Amino acid sequence: MTDKTALLEKKLSQAISARKALEEAKKTQVTMLCDFASKLSFGCRGQDVALDNQLAKFRSALSKGVELEQLTPVIENAIVQLKQQENIFESNERALKSHIQGAGKQLQKLKGLPDDTRRKLRHLLDHELGNIKANVDYVPLLDKLLQFYMQTLQAKAAPQMSSSSTNPELALELLALTNELVFEEDVSEQIKQIKHNLSSDDSVDSLLENSVNIIRIFAKSIARERQSAQGFLVSLNQTLEELHKSIVETTNQSKSVNQEVSALNKRIEEKITKLNVETQQATSISELKQLVDNELKELSKDLIERENIERKDKETLLQSFDKINDRINVLESKVTNYKKRLNEQKFKSLLDGLTKLPNRAAFDDRYNQEFHLFEVHSNDVTLVVIDVDHFKSINDKYGHSAGDKTLQVIARALKKSIRKADFIARYGGEEFVLLMPGMPLSAAKAPLEKIRATVKAIPFKFKETEVQITISLGATQLKAGDTTLTAFDRADNALYDAKNSGRDRLCLRE
Ligand code: GH3
Ligand code: MG
Ligand code: MG
Repeated sequence: MTDKTALLEKKLSQAISARKALEEAKKTQVTMLCDFASKLSFGCRGQDVALDNQLAKFRSALSKGVELEQLTPVIENAIVQLKQQENIFESNERALKSHIQGAGKQLQKLKGLPDDTRRKLRHLLDHELGNIKANVDYVPLLDKLLQFYMQTLQAKAAPQMSSSSTNPELALELLALTNELVFEEDVSEQIKQIKHNLSSDDSVDSLLENSVNIIRIFAKSIARERQSAQGFLVSLNQTLEELHKSIVETTNQSKSVNQEVSALNKRIEEKITKLNVETQQATSISELKQLVDNELKELSKDLIERENIERKDKETLLQSFDKINDRINVLESKVTNYKKRLNEQKFKSLLDGLTKLPNRAAFDDRYNQEFHLFEVHSNDVTLVVIDVDHFKSINDKYGHSAGDKTLQVIARALKKSIRKADFIARYGGEEFVLLMPGMPLSAAKAPLEKIRATVKAIPFKFKETEVQITISLGATQLKAGDTTLTAFDRADNALYDAKNSGRDRLCLRE
């Protein structure tokens, strides 16, 4: 009897430790899932405000430590948000398509269109633009481009116009439109060529040719951008749904196993209690032996059943954890790839990451273009170099991130203070350059002084201290005989004058 009782105890304790191990495994999985989900939610940031909010909730729920079951509604919500994003994409796409069709119909109605142009146009509208799916941000620009094309066609169709007629205003307008677009590296050479053509040849035919080319490049870029964003969202959504399904299955399965096991436990406990009572009431050894034999047989059966249930549970759980793991790996690599692509795009971009102003590459591009126009038309162009005064001390006293924030605020103020025709870029560090086409140096003085005063008036506050930040400006005007370099050096020298004569001022060099 003692042997059998010992065996019973051993089995019981084995069962308990098996259960514990299973629970441990589950906990590790949950932690891993939480960790991943939190990474995922960071990876998706910046696509959409509502989605961002949802994911922020997700992260905060995770950081508090949640059970698998509690994760389910959060994932469900994230899926709803992702679906909504897809819907937004879809309605943007519809808006874009109707825009395109409207513009197309109007264009087709135009009388006096050369057959060749009409064919080209139909192809563009039916095949290239008709198939694209785009973000709504692009719609106004695309709309402008199409309107521009129409305007140019009308100019061409006007009776007094011949194919060699020129239209400098239209050429400048197209150039300005092109400057609003940021293209990826692989098409930037083509765009550069088009810009060059536009600034040297403003015949109506060249305008038509160039605007069709721009629209074509634009359509391709949008299609590519949209495809990758949409594809990412759709596949993210799919994988999330699969992940969700696996988690629900696992949770349900472990719920039902838990119920079974607790029923069995209850039966085992009852049997042990009964055995206890009966052994105390037994009057003879043989009666006791019989009793214990029978009851132990029953108990062993129960215990074996319990072991079986738990072993199977463990196997299924491990299998579904494997499934969940696979899905997570898929998700993780999707997010990584998408982020990599986004980063590559940023790398190629002409925007400065910190201030969101055009960067130095964008400035060089634009400066060359304006210089070329200046050589052809001898128009007034003022060039300004701007540098923040004693900026190093902001970093030194209040930290680099205060410095960064300051640059962002100054950049925003500069951007807000200039005309639409002006172009401002972050040239590097705490230096900005401003191009003012159509502005003689003498007339630039007043608006530049205003910019200086605007920055000076920004109420900066660091560590409870109010701080006044000033800028120095050096300005010059492009003149005959200049190269891009000599003009830039002159503006830089004017800035040097401003720094040497006490900062917080504007100096001009003719
Ligand atoms: P000055 O009036 O002569 O222009 O003095 P300054 O301190 O502004 O000039 P200096 O060129 O010596 O220092 C510029 C500093 O700007 C150095 C660098 O630490 C800081 N800086 C440049 N780029 C960044 C940036 O992106 N973020 C931050 N926080 N600081 C930057
Ligand atoms: Mg500097
Ligand atoms: Mg400085």
